Amino acid sequence: MTHTIEKHPSVAAFLDQPSIPAFIGGQWRELSGGTMDVKDPATGKTIAVVSTANANDVADAVESADEAFAGWSAMKPKERAELLNRLADKIAEQSEVLAQLEALDVGKPIVNARGFDVPFGADCLRYFADMSIDAVYDRPLNVEGMDARVHRAPYGVCGFIFPWNFPFTLCCWGIGPALAAGNTVVIKASEVTPLSTLYLGYLAKEVGIPDGVINIYTGTGPECGQPLVEHPLVRRISFTGSSAVGKMIGRICGERLIPCKLELGGKGAAVVLDDVDVDQVAEALAGAITLNTGQVCCTATRWFIHEKIYDPFVAKIQELLNKTAIGHGLEEGTQMGPLVSKAQVDRVEDYYKKGLSEGATAIVELKRPVVGGGEEGYFVSPHLLAGDDNNICFREEVFGPTAYLVKFKEDSDAIKRVNSLAYGLANSVWGRDLDRANAIAEQIVSGNSWINAHNVFAYGLPYGGVNLSGVGGGVNSPETFDDYLRDQTIARPLA
Ligand code: NAD
Repeated sequence: MTHTIEKHPSVAAFLDQPSIPAFIGGQWRELSGGTMDVKDPATGKTIAVVSTANANDVADAVESADEAFAGWSAMKPKERAELLNRLADKIAEQSEVLAQLEALDVGKPIVNARGFDVPFGADCLRYFADMSIDAVYDRPLNVEGMDARVHRAPYGVCGFIFPWNFPFTLCCWGIGPALAAGNTVVIKASEVTPLSTLYLGYLAKEVGIPDGVINIYTGTGPECGQPLVEHPLVRRISFTGSSAVGKMIGRICGERLIPCKLELGGKGAAVVLDDVDVDQVAEALAGAITLNTGQVCCTATRWFIHEKIYDPFVAKIQELLNKTAIGHGLEEGTQMGPLVSKAQVDRVEDYYKKGLSEGATAIVELKRPVVGGGEEGYFVSPHLLAGDDNNICFREEVFGPTAYLVKFKEDSDAIKRVNSLAYGLANSVWGRDLDRANAIAEQIVSGNSWINAHNVFAYGLPYGGVNLSGVGGGVNSPETFDDYLRDQTIARPLA
């Protein structure tokens, strides 16, 4: 298989280590949990071996973060911000290395990793670093007979557990506000795609982030994710991943009475009204399900198409999806890469078969293309099912390049059916009449409602879920920074 893009020498050197160690207390360490192979999803071949953590290693990482907390939290916000901005600069300088690691590990097209995952991650660190300089850490209270204020202080060690679909960006979204507020962090990277997160350790060391402020390891959830959540020195948890695991993490945090931010799965809808430009919307929604091979928590996977435009919409979307350029992430021109793993292929195929057996019709069939001679690659074509709402593919998160189409006539009917599931992450409304679109957006129960676009992200635009899609604050906004400071009232009665 030939890849157009040559591996950067730093990528080759990083991957060629006998096993990639963890970054704990500012040192690179082999761990006690054994090793794990990391696969290139486009070929199914092993591209790296990583050292994996057990509970003792997790305890070491937490203790390192705890030791580093006193120094990091005592620094002036401006000094911390300077270091975080330096880290963002270093990420920008090493962006090709990080983008290649991300493309190789997740299977995503390099253009996406270069254009979004890496720079957007760096921007997150800058956004929160700058915010921390101007933040108010003491708020005087106007209480008669008192000299009183609310003092805002960091929590201490914050634990982070991340999924495999956007490892670098999600890591920056998570740790950026926590570090800027003066907390130290322990990161459990996904065991499926740990590479770019582990590489961040080199960059942190190079720019002089003090040892122990950022700790990074990987391994399986029960072995080294759960011990992080349970460790008594961990003061806050942030978990991004499936709703099933999120509930379990939430239960442990509830037992421990520590704050917990859960960013979970979704089953996003797109409501397409009858006054749209059909071709434009079809193009945008094709892009939504091929982005990251549909492995996007907030993407549009239930398409409510107004009955008046249903037929022309279907004709256009068939044309678009059937010409998707499927290829290796490092191949120039690839529009959609493979799924991340064999397990993910099995899951997506299984949902497709179950959807059909429950009465759905395939509007665009699922195929297993053989790409570039890589017969072992985890490639699945973009595909669409249509039918009624009583179908597993309407109700459950598939997490692949797929959507389920239903027709509607009345806006109120579409709203009711969108809201019929417990998920509440992100939905979109498409229409020229903005009053009508806004009214629908408001009535959908969801953390995020987008109009005439799907997958909309910016710093300053809060992003999070409700119900089965998450709880505890969300990301990317000033409120996220506030979440990482605890309030403490300090009062002195005036005699
Ligand atoms: P997952 O829940 O299987 O795993 C997520 C992380 O949790 C991994 O690091 C895993 O090792 C760890 N984990 C698993 N079991 C654990 C346990 N018992 N204790 C502690 N940690 C444990 O999810 P995934 O398959 O990696 O990712 C896909 C899911 O993530 C989808 O549901 C997707 O919607 C969701 N997601 C949500 C967002 C968001 O912002 N809402 C973003 C990305 C992905």
